[in-house]
Amino acid sequence: MSKTDAKTGGIALHNLRKCYGSAMAVDDVTLSVSPGEFVSLLGPSGSGKTTTLMMIAGFEMPDSGQVLLDDKDITRLPPHRRELGVIFQNYALFPHMTVAENVAYPLRMRRVTKAEIETRVRRILDQVHLGALASRYPHQMSGGQQQRVAIARALVFDPPVLLLDEPLGALDKKLRQHLRNEIKTLHKQVGKTMIYVTHDQDEALAMSDRVAVMHEGRIRQVCAPQDIYRRPADLFVAGFVGEVNFVPITIRSGVVQGPDGEKLPAAQLPEADKDATLCVRPEHLRLQPTSGSVSGIEGHIVDLTFVGDATILEFCSNSGLHLTSKVLNISAEAILNRGDACVASWAAADATILTA
Ligand code: ADP
Ligand code: MG
Repeated sequence: MSKTDAKTGGIALHNLRKCYGSAMAVDDVTLSVSPGEFVSLLGPSGSGKTTTLMMIAGFEMPDSGQVLLDDKDITRLPPHRRELGVIFQNYALFPHMTVAENVAYPLRMRRVTKAEIETRVRRILDQVHLGALASRYPHQMSGGQQQRVAIARALVFDPPVLLLDEPLGALDKKLRQHLRNEIKTLHKQVGKTMIYVTHDQDEALAMSDRVAVMHEGRIRQVCAPQDIYRRPADLFVAGFVGEVNFVPITIRSGVVQGPDGEKLPAAQLPEADKDATLCVRPEHLRLQPTSGSVSGIEGHIVDLTFVGDATILEFCSNSGLHLTSKVLNISAEAILNRGDACVASWAAADATILTA
């Protein structure tokens, strides 16, 4: 497989909309994907990910809006004229064809010569580590192997863009992790634009250059994984991507007050006085024995759960607010126990303030 020319494979979506009956499946989606970029569409079930991907692929027509490939309007082109590689949620392999025949299929459709087909099929099968299984049938392979065949088949005709709809959804956790690394490696090797649909936040964060978080047909935030995690744009994104504690706060004259009126650490405050929500990740929430000198939310430990690499501490404030802290088990000594009085705090830079 040749490395695609870095200048091709740019996708732009302009104000895409799609209704099914009265239900808005995709609601004004605008997104630019650069040539060679890996972008995930991440969201819960029913948020419009598949519908968006199918409009890019041409299997669904938008009610309004445009799909551009390298600045060319392809909104109304049928799927086979878009030359985009698609990997569907179910692998959709031809059961009566061998692996090699499945992978050769897109080339036969394009009337590539027999010798050329043989060379290209062998090359791509080696690339996805299936060289030895070329004459097997799909039912003689594991789910992970079948998914690799689907990837090979989508890549074999050298499309500038690969669209993947939850390709690892049916596989167990270990295999998912293994295959996601393979897909990432493949992405680096072939340099193609990839648009990857998933509801799995770990997968999206681990694989993507940028993540677009979708909810109810809309894109709520698009940015690099670190920024999605560290600087969520709204409460939905904060709650969907990773674990998070929500602390109801009031901002008065530049001071953040917690539920009991205590002063809480936070940076980047909005100018005006208002009620808001402070978000802090469990790994940033510190619980320290009450000693008088630490400022934060006072309360006690309700529960501790050992999860191997870490301990999860459940905290309840004096006013009944529940918070979760995650502490890596670097030392075997437990500092806090169930029932211990303690203070919850965090570094100002680790808190995000969101208003509704
Ligand atoms: P996701 O892939 O994020 O789970 P979908 O794009 O499949 O979401 O669906 C978005 C919304 O559109 C859902 O409410 C779903 O029920 C609805 N929907 C999707 N496809 C159809 C269809 N062919 N007919 C009617 N409703 C549909
Ligand atoms: Mg879907």
